[in-house]
Parts: sequence; C-alpha cells; structure tokens
Amino acid sequence: MRMIRNTLIALALFGCSAAGAIGPDVRAPLVLTPDADSRAATVAAVEAWNEATGLGIVVGEGGVPVQVVDELDNCGETNARVADGVLVRIAIRRATPAPRFCGEWERTLRHEIGHAIRYWAIGAAAQLDEHTAGGLMGERANRATAIDAEALELTCADAPCAWMQNVE
Ligand SMILES: [Zn+2]
Repeated sequence: MRMIRNTLIALALFGCSAAGAIGPDVRAPLVLTPDADSRAATVAAVEAWNEATGLGIVVGEGGVPVQVVDELDNCGETNARVADGVLVRIAIRRATPAPRFCGEWERTLRHEIGHAIRYWAIGAAAQLDEHTAGGLMGERANRATAIDAEALELTCADAPCAWMQNVE
C-alpha cells in the first residue's frame, strides 16, 4: 500500500509542475559495467533486483564498474565519492571456497548492488553503513541470498521502485 500511495503522490507533484516532466521519475537508469570475471554474476544479480523492484537496472558500457578484486579486505565494497555520493565502483572478493564470514561472492554482489541502488537514488545522503537487521542487506555478513522484504524497504525507500517483490 505504501508504494501505491508514494506513486500517487509523485504523480500529483509532477502533475502540478510546469517544468514539463514526462513522468514520475525521469532519472537515467543505474548502469553497471562488470569486468569479465563478474559479468555472469552481475547479469544474474541485476535480473534478480529488476524482478524484485522493476527498477530497470542495466548491464552495459559506461556505467559503474563491477570488479573482482581478490585482494579486498572486505567481502565486498561499494565505493562512492564522499563529496557527492556518486558511485565509483563495486568491488567483490571472490574466494573459493568462500570465507565463512562472507558467504558466496555472488551473494555479496547482490548485497552490494543493494547499496549501489541507494547511492544511485539519493547520492551523498546515503550513509556508508546502511543495513537491515538481517537478511540480504543485513548488517553482519550472512548466507541469506533472497531479496527480502527488509532489503526492499531499504533500497526502495527513495528509489522509484515500480513494485516490491521478494525474489529467492
Ligand atoms: Zn553492506
């Protein structure tokens, strides 16, 4: 219900605008540009997030780099410029077998894309450590891979999600 109400409010606001907005949200889509090692996993993760949110995230050229960086200290990182919150890259540590505290790296990539959606939606207003209590966007690394209700509440709070649907 909340999503529907927000959509109606957005439509009403733009309906009153004299700026000629063509829709409730006209920002350019989030584009991710994976390296060869992360390409298949990025495509799969983006498909899952798009199924969950309808955001239309794109895998293509000229977007936010997604890179496998095996020397990374963290399981994964989403880096943004502090000054304006513009996304610099998503980096994932791919270890086989996965370190116990990280879980599978494909899961970490899903988690980091959640952070990237927040930065894309609100830029510098996004905090570096925005997490949920548990699940995919949980504060502590865990093995949850589903895009769950908590993850959707966080990522769609300010992003123009067309819908919020759990995805395994
Ligand atoms: Zn995180």
